Amino acid sequence: MLKRILVVAAGAAFLTSAAFAQNKPEDTEVWTPVPKVVTPGKSTADAPADAVLLFNGKNLDEWESVNNPGEPAKWKVANNVFTVDKGTGNIQTKKKFTDYQLHIEYLIPANITGTGQGRGNSGIFLASIGKGDDGYELQVLDNYNNATYVNGQAGSIYKQTPPLVNACKKPGEWQSYDVIWTAPRFNDDGSVKSPARVTVFHNGVLVQNNTELKGPTRYIGQASYDKAHGASPIKLQAHGDKSEPLSFRNIWVREL
Ligand code: MG
Repeated sequence: MLKRILVVAAGAAFLTSAAFAQNKPEDTEVWTPVPKVVTPGKSTADAPADAVLLFNGKNLDEWESVNNPGEPAKWKVANNVFTVDKGTGNIQTKKKFTDYQLHIEYLIPANITGTGQGRGNSGIFLASIGKGDDGYELQVLDNYNNATYVNGQAGSIYKQTPPLVNACKKPGEWQSYDVIWTAPRFNDDGSVKSPARVTVFHNGVLVQNNTELKGPTRYIGQASYDKAHGASPIKLQAHGDKSEPLSFRNIWVREL
């Protein structure tokens, strides 16, 4: 019996070395296609060379009103930032996107007031699929020291997935989201082929790790994919809370 095992082992050793003799390290080297060179910004906040700038510090030419599509976005631009104008409602990009990487910075004023969902509420709809708040909302809210339902706090996919951690900075400090968005895909009959997925860094900290979305954000009831859609604008929320309005700056996107 022992002799038989030794013979089998020797045979296996021979086969393995024979395989090594036929294969070379070069066999598993991939040389094409060569990833294109993209010059990065000086810091991770700076737009890389191939990014689409969604705000140049001067105007909102890349944006439009959601209530009146085609009409200019009327939020106030000053000192290289723009500030939510609750009276004119949500704004969205003129361009439509499918899969992308997004960088966006926001400021909750130092003098913010309110509690719960009424304290610095805004949102980034990663794909806007209609008027008002229709779309997939990444929540913006002051949760530095402000409790609310966890799937509605900053860094959550609103009413779906809480952030992995609370990475909020103090009101009065600029904060950032870096987002990798994979849009949902639909079959010809409108049924969902592959759900949306999102990875989010809040102030550089991972808060959503390839999270699968159950559908567009729904304020009441469970989310589900009810209607097929293609490329979509990115939308910013003018929330109706009574607290002081937020500002945004340094917004860029890289289509994937
Ligand atoms: Mg919101």
